Amino acid sequence: MIPVELGTFLALVAGLGCALLLGAWVWYDRREALLADPRRLRSAFACTRCGRTYSRPRLREEAPCPGCGANNVRLRF
Ligand SMILES: [Zn+2]
Repeated sequence: MIPVELGTFLALVAGLGCALLLGAWVWYDRREALLADPRRLRSAFACTRCGRTYSRPRLREEAPCPGCGANNVRLRF
């Protein structure tokens, strides 16, 4: 067995824990970004004529209502 000082051992364990935590953080951050992007790129609309709410892919300022065909402006939050 290799003789290791307690301080060195504890530093090694703490470093390994930090590395694991950082790895998990980066992993979940990337995963979250990948999952959220397609939803964020959709535009939401509320029809002023029939009241229906709908969404369309990509960011756009106007889209026709699927129910009555009226042109509506994108909702802003
Ligand atoms: Zn409508």
